[in-house]
Formats: sequence, structure tokens, C-alpha cells
Amino acid sequence: MNRKHLATRYRITDGKDFRLKDYSPDDTWKLKSKEDAHKWLEEGLARLSDLQDRLYAQNQWSLLLVFQAMDAAGKDSTIKHVMSGTNPQGCQVYSFKVPSEEELNHNFLWRTAKVTPERGRIGIFNRSYYEETLVVRVHPELLAHEKLPSRLITKNIWEERFEDIAAFEQHLARSGVVIRKFYLNVSKEEQRRRFLSRLEEPAKNWKFSTGDLQERAHWDEYMKAYQQVVRHTATEHAPWYIVPADHKWFTRLVVAEVILETLESLDLHYPKVDKAKRKELAAVRLALLKKEAKV
Ligand code: AMP
Ligand code: MG
Repeated sequence: MNRKHLATRYRITDGKDFRLKDYSPDDTWKLKSKEDAHKWLEEGLARLSDLQDRLYAQNQWSLLLVFQAMDAAGKDSTIKHVMSGTNPQGCQVYSFKVPSEEELNHNFLWRTAKVTPERGRIGIFNRSYYEETLVVRVHPELLAHEKLPSRLITKNIWEERFEDIAAFEQHLARSGVVIRKFYLNVSKEEQRRRFLSRLEEPAKNWKFSTGDLQERAHWDEYMKAYQQVVRHTATEHAPWYIVPADHKWFTRLVVAEVILETLESLDLHYPKVDKAKRKELAAVRLALLKKEAKV
């Protein structure tokens, strides 16, 4: 079994003919159980830690991981597990909620653009500017609150947003931000089970909000909106991954593998020390050995 398939199997770089229904939420490729995945995940997280160290030291590329999904698909827990092996100093996680008054007073990319990852860092968006073509599309009344001049709100607005997002991602890619986008593909039935456990287990109660049930009622509209997102914004430099999400252990494995494969493709290395610098370091070392304060 070649684990590279885990990354490529769910990758969309050209969304033209993309259909969400071709992707099964309960797929686990050739793996049968959590135990099958366990060793891979352990090994993977160790490699991730080493690669992140190089990414940080090299200080040129950065990685932006975008997570989108329906409620209870496992965004939070996937982020938590996959990043458990990384150095917090090199990671920046942002969760995007209902926009604030200040955010609504700016263009829709503003709040995300100002927190794109610095060079050498891994940035995680838990939801993103894609919400502007998802929740806002499913609930057009939200658009009315966005304070846009009315003549700019036309039937083309979603196409225009896709264009803006694509241009933004192109710009980031050309600046050294490597983008990977994950749609955690949970089934409606599995969401029902997870909602029930949020209601039945006291420790999970806090995760449930009645609004989640209202969004569930719009399931088919969301699926259509997600399909449109992938059709319009999957590219070579910013691919979408349609990650099966009915089995959390498998979701984590696929996401970890994509991150590893991406970092491995960057040829990350520690900055080279030139001759003059080596000489300087040798002199400092000697001074320290002699317990001298000055070189
Ligand atoms: P959660 O991630 O479950 O804490 O919920 C955050 C909520 O914020 C979700 O219901 C999102 O749909 C909503 N949200 C995120 N971005 C936007 C946006 N740009 N416009 C409106 N609602 C949003
Ligand atoms: Mg929620």
C-alpha cells in the first residue's frame, strides 16, 4: 500500500466536472480500522515535526490550511490531532465566526488577509472567506447585512466572489504561501449521530447550538454550494481535498498525509552557513571554551 495515494485520491485540482456525490463520506480506502491507521499517524506526526522545524528555519515558504465543513464534521478535532506534533510557535490558528461590525465595514477578504501565515509558519483557517459563498449564499439575507452598495449586488455576485477568491489565492501562491483546502465530507446520517451524542453526553453539550439544527435543514443547499465552491476554486496551486469524514481516524490520516506530502515537495532545508560565518562561529566557540567574555 502506497500511502501517497491517501493524498492524491481525494485531491481536486480542476473542478470543472466535480460532483460531490462521487465522493463517499465513509470511505476508508484500503484501511479497515483505527489500528491500521495508528502507526502511520504516529510516524507521520514525527516527520511533520521535523519538516515544520525546517520550514521555520528556512523562513521562505508558509503553509495555509483551510478547513471547511458542515457542523460536527470534525474540523476542531482534526486540527487538534494533526497539529499535536507541531511546535505551537510555528503555528497560527484562526476561527472565523459571524463577522463583526468592524469586519463588515471592510471587503470580505479583509479579515482573513490580515492573518495569512508569516513566512516559515503554518496557518490554519477554521472556516474562511469561503463562508462568503456558503452560509451567505444559503442565507441571502446575510448579504443584505453586508453594507454593500445595492448596485453591486447582482445575480453575478457568487461568480464574482469566486473570481476574487481565486485571484487572492493566486496572489498568495505567488508570494510563497502554499495553500491546501480541506472539505471534511461528513454524511447527513453521521451528523445526526454526532448531534445526538452532543445532546446525550453532558461533556459535549456545549458543542451543540440550536442554530446547528437550522443549518442541517438546509443540507441540500449547502451541498450544492460546496459543489460550486470546488468547481470554481480548485486549482493546481490551491487544490481542494474532499476528505471522507464519517470516520474521524481516517480524516486525520488523510489530512496529515496531505500536509506531509506538501511540505516534502518544498525541498525545505536549514539555511546554509557560509565560510565567513563558520569562521566567526569557530572563534566564538573558542572564546567560550576559554571562558572569555569577548571574541
Ligand atoms: P462555529 O465554527 O461552529 O463556531 O460557528 C461559526 C459560525 O459562524 C457558523 O455558523 C458560520 O456559518 C458562521 N460564519 C462564519 N463566517 C461567516 C460569514 N462570513 N458570514 C456569516 N456567517 C459566518
Ligand atoms: Mg458549530
